[in-house]
Amino acid sequence: MTSILIRGGTLIDGTGSAARPGEDVLLRDGRVAVLGSEAAASTDPDTEIVEAAGRTVMPGLIDAHTHLTFGEPTGNDELFNHRTEAYSSMLSAYNARKVLRAGVTSVLDADCLWNIGVELRDAIESGIVEGPRMRAGGQALMTMLGGTAGRMIADEGRTGYATVVTGRDVMVNEIRRQIKYGVDWIKIMVTGLIPSMKGPEVKVWNIDELRTVCDTAHELNTKVVAHCRNSDSTRDAARAGVDLIYHASYVDDEALEAVVEAGSALCPTFTLLGNLADYGAKIGTAPELLDVFRAEIEVTARQLAKAHAAGVPFLAGSETGFAVTPVGEWHARELEMFVEYMGMTPMEAIVAATRNGAFAMRAEGELGTLEVGRIADVLVVDGDPLRDVRVLQDRERIVEVIKDGRRVDITTPIPERRQRASDQVRFLAACPLTRSLALTEDDLERLSHV
Ligand SMILES: [Zn+2]
Repeated sequence: MTSILIRGGTLIDGTGSAARPGEDVLLRDGRVAVLGSEAAASTDPDTEIVEAAGRTVMPGLIDAHTHLTFGEPTGNDELFNHRTEAYSSMLSAYNARKVLRAGVTSVLDADCLWNIGVELRDAIESGIVEGPRMRAGGQALMTMLGGTAGRMIADEGRTGYATVVTGRDVMVNEIRRQIKYGVDWIKIMVTGLIPSMKGPEVKVWNIDELRTVCDTAHELNTKVVAHCRNSDSTRDAARAGVDLIYHASYVDDEALEAVVEAGSALCPTFTLLGNLADYGAKIGTAPELLDVFRAEIEVTARQLAKAHAAGVPFLAGSETGFAVTPVGEWHARELEMFVEYMGMTPMEAIVAATRNGAFAMRAEGELGTLEVGRIADVLVVDGDPLRDVRVLQDRERIVEVIKDGRRVDITTPIPERRQRASDQVRFLAACPLTRSLALTEDDLERLSHV
């Protein structure tokens, strides 16, 4: 029996009800045991005491959109062509610890290199690796048109985090295969970039194919999450029965109506775009893209605010795992973006990142709130996230992380990671070195007289 008494903090319980100052919380055997004035009287001699006066006590954050197996690549070439399964597994285990230390006690990792997500989930659950509670998918299903990696996705078979499914039988078999190997979710890429078509992503699945995926997965008690970066894809995904929609970019009213009617949940994942729009100039993002990303956030957020008002559940997801969103750094930025762009209150943003996240973890009613009987994933924060939700992004302010009723070591330094020479390919040139670029007019002129 392990128990912890968190004493005297201001409790935000994750349900959306008002914060309660001076509320004691007793955790016992991995669950929330007693709240309020009875808690101190229910301790035993071995109960650990965590003083939280002047601090906030709240549920651990749930990040519903991560890519922990990707290892922070700068692009798809690095991701698809410069990794081995063994090295990626070790890198994923190394990174998992950083997630937990950032106050994220649960993640959904829906598309993974090899089957690492499922194995990492099990390694964490069995105590081999320290990390957040996970729910995992396998490879994202794609049609032959591919996803965001264009022609880097082979016409058939697996490429990196993707698998191309052609025809009904192949779809059904692939879903059954992934379920056999332990996935919690099936991920589909409903939009993709077609290299010969200019402009944003286009829908690359038809509704019958989407229905096949949803029906097959649902029959086997497995949920479906879809990448939808335009309006038609969001509409069709909702109508086909997709449970959770990532991005929902540029949704129009018809698509929103379909989402409301179907009861799908939304995880917009503004963070990756926000990082590019705000800081891309510091990391070499093409300047003309910065405004495009900002516009996508603004246009989408304005529409999604209507869905929020209509009661659609929103989840917080950061797309952590790329070089633009390194592990442990940006998970809580989505809350800031919900407040800034969608007009949520800080409390609504916290509910999105706690109670609502339980849906991604397939643990609704068990996880994400601090009510008696719930799983004891708890943060103690030195600050008031209701006043400024950005305090949750500052690891110095997350003074205690408790997962499953056990305190996580957040102080022993994690060994620093250095890049292996073979992790990335160095560019030889950003453009062709023509003679006119290399030589000056004078050089060329002089040579012409030799
Ligand atoms: Zn993603």
